[in-house]
Amino acid sequence: MEETLTCKNTKLLSEVERRSGTKVSRCFQCHKCSTGCPVAPDMDYMSSQVMRLIILGQEEELLKSKAIWLCASCEACTTRCPMDIDITGVMDVLRMMAIERKVAEPDARSKEFNKAFLTSVRWHGRVFEAGMMAIYKLRSKDFFTDMDKVPKMLSKRKLALWPHFSRVAGEIRKVFKRAEEEEKKR
Ligand code: SF4
Ligand code: SF4
Repeated sequence: MEETLTCKNTKLLSEVERRSGTKVSRCFQCHKCSTGCPVAPDMDYMSSQVMRLIILGQEEELLKSKAIWLCASCEACTTRCPMDIDITGVMDVLRMMAIERKVAEPDARSKEFNKAFLTSVRWHGRVFEAGMMAIYKLRSKDFFTDMDKVPKMLSKRKLALWPHFSRVAGEIRKVFKRAEEEEKKR
């Protein structure tokens, strides 16, 4: 039998829908998003389950989950959703809510990685992988994990040592600034 939504339940759904600009309530649990997600096997909740938990108002469960930090923002789920739900945007909102409400994520390194990624995009207009990894390693103090992959990545030209700036880097910085101003108004 369908679970009855309480006021508390709908409060979470309303907040996520308002901040992401997408209608999570349209989800009919077809699981197309989850079957296309490259990190689903490692997640505690797959994307379709995340949508369901939002509808059921399970805020604490969601903000503490590993899933929101493992999401790689690849947008495969969003592309596959027949209901046009911006699942990637929803994951972003849940991460923001977890930070704002000071919920400790299962692995603090995920948060540092996320910050390093955004810092790199903010300054270069795109990801500069070597710079992003340097920021991440300094912040997380996780100096050795994955370092054995660096020589192979360099030899295959998958890791540039000098940054390439996007032609629209200035515009992207303005977007970050506007987003910060919007956040302050909340
Ligand atoms: S955006 Fe996140 S949830 Fe969606 S498919 Fe990619 S990793 Fe999975
Ligand atoms: S693909 Fe869309 S409708 Fe289907 S379960 Fe995922 S979010 Fe819901």
